[in-house]
Amino acid sequence: MTIASPDDPFALAPVRISSKRWETPDTFTIELDAPGFRFEPGQFNMLWLFGGGEVPISISGDPEPGAPLVHTIRAVGGVTSALGALEVGATVGLRGPYGAPWPLAAAAGDDLVVVAGGLGMAPLRPVVCFVRRHRARFGRVTLLVGAREPDAMPFRDELGRLREEAAIDVRLTVDHAPRGWEGAVGVVPALIDAIPIEAGRTRAFVCGPEVMMRFSARALEARGVDRGRIHLSLERSMKCAVGLCGHCQLRELFICRDGPVLPLGRVAPLLAHREL
Ligand SMILES: Cc1cc2nc3c(=O)[nH]c(=O)nc-3n(C[C@H](O)[C@H](O)[C@H](O)COP(=O)(O)OP(=O)(O)OC[C@H]3O[C@@H](n4cnc5c(N)ncnc54)[C@H](O)[C@@H]3O)c2cc1C
Repeated sequence: MTIASPDDPFALAPVRISSKRWETPDTFTIELDAPGFRFEPGQFNMLWLFGGGEVPISISGDPEPGAPLVHTIRAVGGVTSALGALEVGATVGLRGPYGAPWPLAAAAGDDLVVVAGGLGMAPLRPVVCFVRRHRARFGRVTLLVGAREPDAMPFRDELGRLREEAAIDVRLTVDHAPRGWEGAVGVVPALIDAIPIEAGRTRAFVCGPEVMMRFSARALEARGVDRGRIHLSLERSMKCAVGLCGHCQLRELFICRDGPVLPLGRVAPLLAHREL
């Protein structure tokens, strides 16, 4: 099931919050009661807070049919903070899924380098779930995650188990480390210099603040990875989510429709443009 369809791209369904947990002091994960909802890793939904407004939020759960529909949200402003105040049992509006996914089918047989900065892990978590279920389809899988500090890293417990449970080489870094921190200290693009990369068979998926994506892309290119094999997920303020209103337009691209996942070759010249 999807709620939006080519016939009715604005279709909206009321759905109940069936579970909620705080990942970090400002970031929470909710599961929505939407049985049979289908999506591809990297896609997003529009979540409607009745009487409040609507926001684009990536789907952060397992894409396997039957798995719960999950979103992880940082309370930064009016709508996201009000969503954070809702409790289990409350109803929100849901439309989607929208947008271009990570090219997982094209990546079959490749090594994967997944690079997440902060909440950039949310749209990449479905990739990790997919890789866990279909581990034999990929070669070496490396997951690099950066955050301000350990307590600000969403899904941290789960990340710690991935090496053992899914044979994923997980490397974590923080800007500020407390005593006892065993990961790296510094920015996440710096981790790229230290990992094994066979450029010709590597595909990289990168999501985080734009400056982090620019430096990560630069580090990957410096290791020989072709621009067509580096994919970024762009966040731009958006309203309609179906390529009509122009809010998220970046020259010829509508990020909601052509993205949010795009190959570096298409977005590199545009990344210098600040949002209006
Ligand atoms: C495709 C896509 C996927 C997204 N996925 C997620 C997700 O999985 N989880 C999540 O928490 N957020 C996600 N976002 C960002 C989320 O949509 C915004 O944080 C939200 O719209 C802010 O609305 P608000 O009313 O709470 O805040 P506002 O009152 O509109 O803004 C509050 C502050 O947040 C800043 N802000 C607003 N929008 C963004 C943005 N897109 N990126 C960075 N800062 C912003 C504003 O500049 C302002 O400083 C995504 C955005 C896009 C475009």
